[in-house]
Amino acid sequence: MKPKERLAIPRQKANELDIAYRITNFEEVTAGFDEDTAIREANRCLQCKKPTCREGCPIGNNIPGFIEKLREGKFEEGYWIIRQTSSLPAVCSRVCPHEFQCEGSCVRGKKGEPVAIGMLERFLVDWMVRSNRNMAMPCALPKNKKVAIIGSGPAGMTTAYHLAHEGYPCTIFESLPLFGGMLAVGIPPYRLPRNIINAEFDALKNCGVTVENNITIGKDITIPQLKDEKDFSAVFVSVGAHNSRKLGIEGEDLQGVMHGVDYLRRVCLGEKMNLGSKVVVVGGGNVAIDVARTALRTGSKDVFILYRRTKQEMPAAMAEIHHLEEEGVHVEFLAAPVKIHGANGRLTKIECQRMQLGDCDASGRCRPVVVEGSNFMIEADAIIAAVSQNIDHTADRSLEVATTKWGTYAVDPLTLQTSVPWIFAGGDAVLGPQTAAKAVYQGKVAAESIKRYLEGTDLHAGRMVRECESS
Ligand code: SF4
Repeated sequence: MKPKERLAIPRQKANELDIAYRITNFEEVTAGFDEDTAIREANRCLQCKKPTCREGCPIGNNIPGFIEKLREGKFEEGYWIIRQTSSLPAVCSRVCPHEFQCEGSCVRGKKGEPVAIGMLERFLVDWMVRSNRNMAMPCALPKNKKVAIIGSGPAGMTTAYHLAHEGYPCTIFESLPLFGGMLAVGIPPYRLPRNIINAEFDALKNCGVTVENNITIGKDITIPQLKDEKDFSAVFVSVGAHNSRKLGIEGEDLQGVMHGVDYLRRVCLGEKMNLGSKVVVVGGGNVAIDVARTALRTGSKDVFILYRRTKQEMPAAMAEIHHLEEEGVHVEFLAAPVKIHGANGRLTKIECQRMQLGDCDASGRCRPVVVEGSNFMIEADAIIAAVSQNIDHTADRSLEVATTKWGTYAVDPLTLQTSVPWIFAGGDAVLGPQTAAKAVYQGKVAAESIKRYLEGTDLHAGRMVRECESS
């Protein structure tokens, strides 16, 4: 199988990104399109009769529809077109890897640059926030069956949003003191400003959704108690994937070794972290990049990333890699850690091996193979492993809910119903670490299933799974 090709950001696009993502300071990096740039970009859209961009969008947003309104200067109308399908446009427009989704499917991209769909969506949302427009949709009259939602991340927020608009009172239980789950403690504010999460939160509260922070389901109250004692008729589990996966190498318990989402959580919760001057981050996804850029912002001078494949295979979004390089973070490609060395209980250096690319799988992703006898050392003050995350099962430990071999919840792919009929699950808790847009899509699916469950109608009738959201 031929290796999968990944194009570099074309020069013109890179120039536009440099303007749009102008670095003003380390607090807020992304500047967004101004009105003229947005309208100019919107005019590049061909208004295709069969818009492939829409097929690439996990939520199925009407992309040509909102772009058409934008180029006519009808910004509020454009926003409401997005809102018909998306519960979290402010978030998705900022953190989705558009190049793998809508922009990756745009016909314009076949012979040049795709339309900058994410930036156009973001322009409309920012315009609404800046203009103080009402972003909440009208809600139905309250019904008498209520729903408990565990976790306030994108899947939980979306399920609450859609059920609340149907009139079902929802309570979101969040173990953290903040709202937003992984959005709030896994994505740094320079990439997703907190006023944006709060704008989405306000739209939820306007519809009667309540949030109870600092409640850990499975510790403070169990899922069966929610049903039997608190009278919730259905439960949606959207606990995210907050447990860091370990490297599994010797020395990982030494002081100075941390894991990606734990580090980001501590920083996002306000803890002052000093990692020292030289920081090595292990991984090639968006979490690794967020960790590296956050380390720069918390005072580290020499930050670099170890990644065992090449830039072509990095799962991180291209724009994020671009900003990483722009900020001076070096990526050591084709290198993998094998052992962490230390003295007096504290790490001193990391031993690595050179890799080369071997056979490629059906998707074109090539397997890294060790180059024998290539070991080398890197001195470090801190090492942060950002190689993936697992699901925390505290919530369901008092009852038996079926899980997969990966530790995610086993659900009916069409309805997201678990092995316990009144419990549904979605987002990273089902997919593993994934994009916000996929979590939003699953939130929508779960809301429809829970509504049918509460109304006693067929959960399956007239529904189908969209390919791009099922894995
Ligand atoms: Fe516009 Fe690209 Fe979508 Fe066509 S595929 S409608 S050009 S955004």
